Amino acid sequence: MAASKPLAPGATIGILGGGQLGRMLALAAAQFGYRTHIFCPEAANPASLVATEATFADYTDEKALAAFAAAVDVVTYEFENVPAATALFLEKHKVVRPSWRALEIAQDRAKEKTFFAEIGVATPPWRAVNTEAELRAAVADIGCPAVLKTARLGYDGKGQAKIKSPDDIAAAWASIGGAKAKTHIDGGAFAVLEGFVDFACEVSVIVARGVDGAVQAFDPTENVHTNHILDTSTVPARIKPGTLLKAITATGLAATRLDLVGLLAVEYFVTRAGDIMANEMAPRPHNSGHWTMDACQTDQFQQMVRAVCGLPLVDPARFANVTMKNLIGDDVNDLAADMANANSHVHLYGKAEARAGRKMGHINRLSWPKT
Ligand code: AMP
Repeated sequence: MAASKPLAPGATIGILGGGQLGRMLALAAAQFGYRTHIFCPEAANPASLVATEATFADYTDEKALAAFAAAVDVVTYEFENVPAATALFLEKHKVVRPSWRALEIAQDRAKEKTFFAEIGVATPPWRAVNTEAELRAAVADIGCPAVLKTARLGYDGKGQAKIKSPDDIAAAWASIGGAKAKTHIDGGAFAVLEGFVDFACEVSVIVARGVDGAVQAFDPTENVHTNHILDTSTVPARIKPGTLLKAITATGLAATRLDLVGLLAVEYFVTRAGDIMANEMAPRPHNSGHWTMDACQTDQFQQMVRAVCGLPLVDPARFANVTMKNLIGDDVNDLAADMANANSHVHLYGKAEARAGRKMGHINRLSWPKT
């Protein structure tokens, strides 16, 4: 279904997913006068605390989805593990931005890597694997060390196992649930084996693409992960101008080739030679883009609202250096110094319980002069 005119203030954005990304998206939507309607299974969630409406139902509940579609003016999503079939179902009733196709590719590591190859963007060497015998052959091909990852539903290091030598193969296969491995109903691979990249650093780029095809990129950010979870994002990234440009160009190309309307985040490994290899992508706001909330003329959530509602995108120029620090678990109990500092911008997600590994909020620490 196509919508041509920009949505007028007062219109409702339907958001699949109720996490912190949905919460910050709902806050940005409110700034432009839009209403928001969250659809997610969990009644206790950060997003519906600040949204206008909420439906708590399963993503496969077609009756609830149809009622949701009827109640909103456009549909988007805040995490990419919404079943692609859900987005496809909703597309029959309402405009969905980004489209289900972007979602389908981004939620499958094998499809994602195939897509990057099609558009000429390098990835680590990889093989699709469906059996332990295929894993053995892939390890022989790619060499060690390597990383085994389930093709779908992995995040923050879950569903991953490092293979340092062929002796690790059986345990790695078992640890990702290989005993029950089968290809997906659509023929997609169960897992991928990737060569382990001895990277100089990790960066990500977020672009917004509007209904008119215009693309605006935020500055690349340098990301540090601890225990597979993003710890800090720092801008500017300490990479050469040529590498910056390659990452921005590749991300814009990916958004355009997906014909995506909304946001696309792509994470890259930067090799010691300054080349980029795409690791994964997400067609939604991204944790590594939270720094934009306080260091840019417009942030990723505002830009996403603009794209999804058919408004013009604007130049998101950065006006400060910034480090975004995620508040994981107990970190949230140690805010006194940042709360007392005007250049520290604290964002909390309204989650009641600070469990280990849980993202409770983030802090954007700004500094000048801008470089
Ligand atoms: P992912 O879930 O694929 O984003 O992986 C989480 C993190 O694990 C990445 O951000 C890297 O720090 C590390 N990692 C994943 N895949 C590789 C790889 N092929 N080579 C080196 N490090 C990796």
